[in-house]
Amino acid sequence: MSCIAAVCTPNASGGVAIVRISGEGALEIADRVFAAVSAKPLSSMKGYRAAYGKIHDGDIVLDEGVAIVYRAPHSYTGEDVAEICCHGGLFVTKRLLRAVLNAGAVPAEAGEFTRRAFLNGRMDLSEAEAVMNVISAQGEQALAAANATLSGSVSRAIDRIAGSLTTAAAGLAVWTDYPDEDVPSVSDDALLATMQTAKAELETLIARYDSGRAVTEGVSAVICGKPNVGKSTLMNLLSGRQRSIVTSIAGTTRDIIEETVRVGEIVLRLSDTAGLRATDDEVEGIGVAMAREKMQEAALLLAVFDSSVPLNEEDYALLEQCKNRTAVAIINKSDLESAFKIAEIEKYIPYTCFISAKNPESAQIFANLLAKVLGTNAFDANGEVLAGERQRQCCANAVGHLEQGIFALQSGETLDAVGVCIDCALGELFALTGKKVSEAVVSEVFAKFCVGK
Ligand code: GDP
Repeated sequence: MSCIAAVCTPNASGGVAIVRISGEGALEIADRVFAAVSAKPLSSMKGYRAAYGKIHDGDIVLDEGVAIVYRAPHSYTGEDVAEICCHGGLFVTKRLLRAVLNAGAVPAEAGEFTRRAFLNGRMDLSEAEAVMNVISAQGEQALAAANATLSGSVSRAIDRIAGSLTTAAAGLAVWTDYPDEDVPSVSDDALLATMQTAKAELETLIARYDSGRAVTEGVSAVICGKPNVGKSTLMNLLSGRQRSIVTSIAGTTRDIIEETVRVGEIVLRLSDTAGLRATDDEVEGIGVAMAREKMQEAALLLAVFDSSVPLNEEDYALLEQCKNRTAVAIINKSDLESAFKIAEIEKYIPYTCFISAKNPESAQIFANLLAKVLGTNAFDANGEVLAGERQRQCCANAVGHLEQGIFALQSGETLDAVGVCIDCALGELFALTGKKVSEAVVSEVFAKFCVGK
């Protein structure tokens, strides 16, 4: 494969920068720009060796630095690789890259090093996607999850699930294709158990990914409720500062106030919205419409109620909207006498907590409930965690095919039909790990990478 090169350190000044060269002739190209003080060419060195020397473009000396030699297949890409480390000035780094390109390399595209690692079997597609997550990880848990995937935990789980489905599919194929032969018949019970187990395992992966996202990427949440229930007070409590104006005058918050806050392990991208009520005030009306739009988009609804006044029409309208959504009922002003029964709310929203938004200790009560709702209290970053939406979608599609297969079997359809469903599910799992995946999908995965990775 052609020899590619790119700067693989950030596009900013720093102590050191690295230009990576990978592919056929990488070491010879590196020799054209790097002269070791030992006078030994890089192309004559063994892998995992480094040399100190001068970096030059023809007769012009650019810098001095260190070159590292990797020999195929023991490199990131699986090809011969040279990494030249120079001083980390923007100009000198670009100049070094130009010298490398002048010496015969072509510029690498976004993600091309990792794409080659995938094509050369150094990692499968799920691991390649995890590389991106290691780079973008913002906290301990996110990094641990990305590293677990990078080390192949998802691939192994998917291979295990695919393995049991493949055995089932093969048994079915023999039985249906050679009906006259003396092949053991496939037991419906065993087939059902295989599909159900695979489905349950995939659903666990999906659930863990969803709760993991709350930790790694954050959840979009909207604080909603009628005016004066304490939405702004709650926003201020969670953000730890005076973000929203708190008054006893209904309709004070008209715009949407947004803030990213951390609640325990969870990151919430929080919006405080205008109180939901019918209003003749034009500006407040726009605020209420925006609040409703936000509620549609948000992944989590934080529905706030005032425990000191009886529930009214506006509260019930909100409760209706929370049905079939991920929602938490926050029953505020618990320092005052309660004017309604919690059971009323629980008919609509199973997750409830009593707080007093004025009391800082309430934040912990809310955090505990949130961890339960989003499943983050049981989240194990060291388990298998899918490394992105594409992988989640593959799992979800596979679950869909397995559900059809289970239904087909239970409703007495032919085993052929069941076999087709299992094949479709397998297709999704192979797409996840990249065993059987279209060029277009591969390109899409690597397009998200930065140049140099
Ligand atoms: P919003 O309109 O829903 O945003 O409500 P605000 O946060 O502006 O609060 C409305 C009024 O309720 C203000 O006077 C707050 O001080 C008061 N309030 C908020 N939370 C509590 C609470 O937990 N206990 C009591 N007693 N009053 C509260």
